Amino acid sequence: NSVQQRKLVVGNWKMHGSLAANTALLNALRSAETGPAEVVVCPPFPYLAQAATLLAGSAIGLGAQNCGHEAGGAYTGEVAAAMLLEFGCRYVIVGHSERRADFGDDDARVARKVLLALEHGLTPILCIGESLAQQQAGETRAVLQRQLQAVLTHLEPARIEQLVIAYEPIWAIGTGLTATADYVADIAGYLHQLIAQAMGAADNRPAVRLLYGGSVNAASADWLRQLPDIAGVLVGGASLKADQFDAICQAF
Ligand code: PGA
Repeated sequence: NSVQQRKLVVGNWKMHGSLAANTALLNALRSAETGPAEVVVCPPFPYLAQAATLLAGSAIGLGAQNCGHEAGGAYTGEVAAAMLLEFGCRYVIVGHSERRADFGDDDARVARKVLLALEHGLTPILCIGESLAQQQAGETRAVLQRQLQAVLTHLEPARIEQLVIAYEPIWAIGTGLTATADYVADIAGYLHQLIAQAMGAADNRPAVRLLYGGSVNAASADWLRQLPDIAGVLVGGASLKADQFDAICQAF
């Protein structure tokens, strides 16, 4: 169960970076890598090859921020899961709230992407989370259940177990507002219940790794790592600063 699982710290660079900045950041992370947690960075597509080269022989893994909703074909501007694998990616973020809001990644499309990622041997990091309006309307659990069910309903229990799920309340992303420990613990318990139900598992905390995301920094990492239902973090802004990201990695 998740208590014994290796913790996972994922850096989501979003649309940030340059050849020079990436070299500096990844070299700094390489020389710092010592903690027990698994560490993954997710640069923009054009930099995946550069990052794979800079991380060669390192324990830091590579992921992408998105993948196409079809295996290949006439989809201008899209990148297929199989291509990501060729460039050394082991993970792919799917259904980030920014993509759901701005790029048409609805529940059905997110489910397609998760399936394609799994078929190609990539571990999907499935992002779910409620908006501020939904939270204030008391809809948080219903929203999370809908987002999760849209994907889990298509997957056998053995496949569900391979997912990483990132709970990111939208109101906490890039805002400097972190949810409280009680809030995260409560939601994480609920999500594990939903996952266990979908797997038909008696164990209330199946082996799916559940991450928290939303303005994570070294201070919040310190209490997040103590929550038994949280197996790591998805980090945006702080993942671009070597000292901050390293401190978060060390905390886990
Ligand atoms: P943030 O981003 O850490 O900058 O809030 C997290 C995310 O969007 O994955």
